[in-house]
Amino acid sequence: MVVPVYNEREVLPLFVERTRRALDGLGEAYELIAVDDGSTDGSREALDAAADVWPQLRVLRLRRNAGHQAAITAGLAASRGDAVVTIDADLQDPPELIADLVAAARREQVDVVYAVRSRRDVDTAFKRGTARLYYRLMRRIAGTDIQPDAGDFRLMTRPVVDDLLALPERHPVYRLLVPWLGYPSTTVAYEREARAAGRTHYPLGRMLRLGIDSVTSFTASPLRYATWLGLAVSSFSALLAVWAVVARLAGHVVPGWTSVLVAVLFLGSVQLLCVGLLGEYLGRLYAQSQGRPAFYVERPRPGLASDSPVEG
Ligand code: UDP
Ligand code: MG
Repeated sequence: MVVPVYNEREVLPLFVERTRRALDGLGEAYELIAVDDGSTDGSREALDAAADVWPQLRVLRLRRNAGHQAAITAGLAASRGDAVVTIDADLQDPPELIADLVAAARREQVDVVYAVRSRRDVDTAFKRGTARLYYRLMRRIAGTDIQPDAGDFRLMTRPVVDDLLALPERHPVYRLLVPWLGYPSTTVAYEREARAAGRTHYPLGRMLRLGIDSVTSFTASPLRYATWLGLAVSSFSALLAVWAVVARLAGHVVPGWTSVLVAVLFLGSVQLLCVGLLGEYLGRLYAQSQGRPAFYVERPRPGLASDSPVEG
């Protein structure tokens, strides 16, 4: 099992307690990999304390905050099981459901089991609205295999995990990549609970980031739309220019600056929009070409004994 943890001290004790009960009750050999995504609130110490009394809990530390999806990558890379369940630490995904995920995978002989939120009335209207929009859009762009309302709570068998890790993507969005891999899958419904404690780490900015990563990782069509938009706007401007010249020659005084202002603003904004779009794709290419790892796992410091010979 893989859980990304970022500043979750308040909910960790409850998470550890409920998850341990759920995993011990499975009757399977398991390991829980908690990826501490550079927490600064004492989650680190809380995880260490939990690991002292829970041998199956392995704590992996990232040197700095790498983000939710990168933390999942780190956990997947460290995982060794025949199947991996990823879950959030905030108990919005009930650990008790893991037994159902495992049972469904066995019963239906599938490689992926999505936990799908059957109800999300604990979420704010805004979160529900944006989520709806997001999943609709992504089903159009990335294919209808995308499970609406499936977050990052899912079971994957080893081949799925290995395929994911073999992808060289710098900004993976797992809820899109897993369906894209095309393994047989099934779903288990659950009712999303409210966050047990603490607060979300997905403010508007990060939600937008995930949205932009999702779109740009699956299609270059916004660039093409930008071209069409540019074409349409320039033909319109050409007509406007002809009209202005003809009107001037016919002796009409051009009445106002309003039209000029509007046109300038409009063109400027369309250009900025297109440049921004280009920037999104260029940024992805740039990050990809740098090839920097998405995260660094902390390693034990080599013991530099004081009496070790120093070569000069
Ligand atoms: N998380 C993380 N790194 C981050 C942000 C979030 O590892 O930079 C973890 C967080 O601890 C939680 C999961 O990702 O386990 C989902 O985050 P959150 O619950 O804040 O998102 P929401 O459910 O509000 O969309
Ligand atoms: Mg949450």
